[in-house]
Amino acid sequence: MRKFTVLFACLILSVGVFAQNQGRYYITADRVFDGETMHEGWAVVVEGNKIIAVGPKNQVREPVGSTQLNFSNSTLTPGLIEGHSHLLLYPYNITDWDTQVLKETDAYRTARATVHARNTLMAGFTTARDLGTEGAGYSDVALKRAIDEGIIPGPRLLVAGRAIVSTGSYGPKGYDHDQQIMLGAEAADGDDLIRVVRNQIGKGADFIKIYADYRWGMQGEDQPSFTLDELKLINEVTRSSGRVMVCHAKSKEAIKRAVLAGAETIEHGDFIDLEIGKLMKAHNVTFIPTLAAVDVISQYRGWKKGVSPEPANVTNKKKSFKEALASGVTIGMGGDVGVFPHGNNVLEMELMVEYGMNPFEVLKAATSVNARAFHLENQVGFIKEGLKADLVVVSGDPSKNISDVRNVKFVMKDGVVYRNEK
Ligand SMILES: [Zn+2]
Repeated sequence: MRKFTVLFACLILSVGVFAQNQGRYYITADRVFDGETMHEGWAVVVEGNKIIAVGPKNQVREPVGSTQLNFSNSTLTPGLIEGHSHLLLYPYNITDWDTQVLKETDAYRTARATVHARNTLMAGFTTARDLGTEGAGYSDVALKRAIDEGIIPGPRLLVAGRAIVSTGSYGPKGYDHDQQIMLGAEAADGDDLIRVVRNQIGKGADFIKIYADYRWGMQGEDQPSFTLDELKLINEVTRSSGRVMVCHAKSKEAIKRAVLAGAETIEHGDFIDLEIGKLMKAHNVTFIPTLAAVDVISQYRGWKKGVSPEPANVTNKKKSFKEALASGVTIGMGGDVGVFPHGNNVLEMELMVEYGMNPFEVLKAATSVNARAFHLENQVGFIKEGLKADLVVVSGDPSKNISDVRNVKFVMKDGVVYRNEK
């Protein structure tokens, strides 16, 4: 009962804070990470929804009437950016993907998604790029609207809507062919792709997400789904609306086609090698590794991490990530969160470090690199004068120990404080 009362009190408090107007803040922490560089002894001034000043404390004056917030033994960072989420999904070890897609109503899934959005924001992720509703229509567009209007707390969103697959290549699979099974994305091919891309844009997609391959090879291996010409067509139609095409692609051939067709990001990239990494780099494509998805799915299938031998797909993922690092391709941060719990987004960052990336670079990936990759660099991803006041404070120094991102003390989005723990 007491636990319940505390929970209720927290809820009231958070709603109260949530409803609070933007104000004027003078914020200091031991370290300020501006998205690219770590500084000591800096201060940040927020007014309304904007950062209006940032720099050494002796140069940045505290404005009259501001709320002063000082965080000791802490690091202030730009609000983190999740690069690959599925807010309409939740972990498959609770409910498998087929069941979520086929048996759960969009209304039920959206109700759950409001909680996922809140958990994401409270974990310090003030922006998320959501890569498809997996059978929940355009619920992501509605979710984004509710967040933007301040109805529910959540990260600012870039959404894909339904996403596009080629005929025959996507799940749920294995049902009687007499049944019309709803897919986790919209199937289209050839010239019909023009209509489907435009339709998705019309319904609110911020970008077009394509599944460029699928595990439909003769041995169940990943093989391309769309031809190069189809991908080029999708890209042309998408680009002419001022949007971009992003591609799920694991096999080398699908990655190559996606890159040559003009994809801006490659999702998963399980079979990237040095050569493909260099091709991506040459085309200024960002790689979103989703290491966490492979790691947790292996665990859901029975792998006891650290105890039983490493499964081949995890070994392969480590190898391809190392080759990507060596190739110099830009690497962003996105974990395919939804496969694992929303709010545990940092798991991807921890695995990036575990697989060989420097924690400082990982911190950049989740802020400035993602911001640039998603064309948001003039809004978020940096602590810079004139940008949106998306700020997070964690105790410790995540540029040295990435897991310190778990110790969130403070979350501000658009100048509104959502979390503040001294
Ligand atoms: Zn995904």
